[in-house]
Amino acid sequence: MNSILPSTGERWRGVIHAYRAHLPVSDATPVVSLNEGNTPLIRVDNFVKAIGGEFELWLKFEGLNPTCSFKDRGMTMAVSKAAERGAQIVICASTGNTSAAAAAYAARAKMKCVVLLPNGKIALGKLAQALMYGATTIAVQGNFDEALRIVRELGETGKVEVVNSINPVRIEGQKTASFEICDQLGRAPDFHFLPVGNAGNITAYWRGFKEYKASGKIDHLPKMFGFQAAGSAPIVDGAPVENPNTVATAIRIGNPASWEGANCALKESNGFIDKVTDEEILDAYKLIARTDGIFVEPASAACLAGLIHCVKAGKIPMGSVISATMTGHGLKDPDNAIKTAGFEPFVVEANKEAVMKVIGL
Ligand SMILES: *Cc1c(COP(=O)(O)O)cnc(C)c1O
Repeated sequence: MNSILPSTGERWRGVIHAYRAHLPVSDATPVVSLNEGNTPLIRVDNFVKAIGGEFELWLKFEGLNPTCSFKDRGMTMAVSKAAERGAQIVICASTGNTSAAAAAYAARAKMKCVVLLPNGKIALGKLAQALMYGATTIAVQGNFDEALRIVRELGETGKVEVVNSINPVRIEGQKTASFEICDQLGRAPDFHFLPVGNAGNITAYWRGFKEYKASGKIDHLPKMFGFQAAGSAPIVDGAPVENPNTVATAIRIGNPASWEGANCALKESNGFIDKVTDEEILDAYKLIARTDGIFVEPASAACLAGLIHCVKAGKIPMGSVISATMTGHGLKDPDNAIKTAGFEPFVVEANKEAVMKVIGL
């Protein structure tokens, strides 16, 4: 049930190959892929029980993509289309995961990649990725929104290909996650939960669900439930945030590029958007690791914190089928993990007795 591979055993070859009919590609598009997509959809009954819910919760574990976040779905499209146009240099501003994906796909396409990161505000694993894939890595003394402004200006020179989600084909690639959820569940969920930063993903998921409904693959649309971090909640608060702040660095964005798309998804789906505190995010982050063995990054856990709110507020009817995007892998951000775990390794002498003492035997 968790694989959408056809039973013939055909090899999975990435989202463009799998969903070509739904994507703006042609035979002239050189497909740059790392076999992204086909990520597991994992049912987490332990977590649901722990939060007092009575419904099915399925986590789409996007941390298991090639660069360990959902950004690979959009990047296979963006870099393939850039290659089709003959681009030599791709550039992006990033809170970390877009740069990791851009750097990897550019390496594969033999393009130069330039990434602009907010200095000191990206998780360690993501920085390691940009450097390892060989991207020209620039730490801007400013926040994500300022880095994106610079990237937009550089894009206007026509000398570089911008692969931020202001590039419309990113959204096209990202919508394939909705297709997979419906294919894996054999139906559409009743609710879809996800964290919201730049709001590209909520825009993409909604587009994907609508397209699947229009093509007759599903018979209803889910309600879209998005969550922002309290210190970085422009859509919830109704105004850009000048100095966004949150432990969930992947959603530390004060002026979302796809604000309109988010509003549209929320309105059309009869959805809901709210904010959660960093403390709630970290509680949910730890809880899902301990109840179900799923280690995500803090931003992903924002939507689980949001689900806990919704359960308390009685917003989720009994028996609902809910899917939620776990946007990135927990190993991206080892600093926060070690701080949040709540304990450190027990250091003992190298003998059996010392270890038994720690275990309590
Ligand atoms: C990019 C990202 C988000 C936010 O997605 P948007 O499309 O910007 O709303 C959330 N979590 C992780 C791990 C991300 O990398």
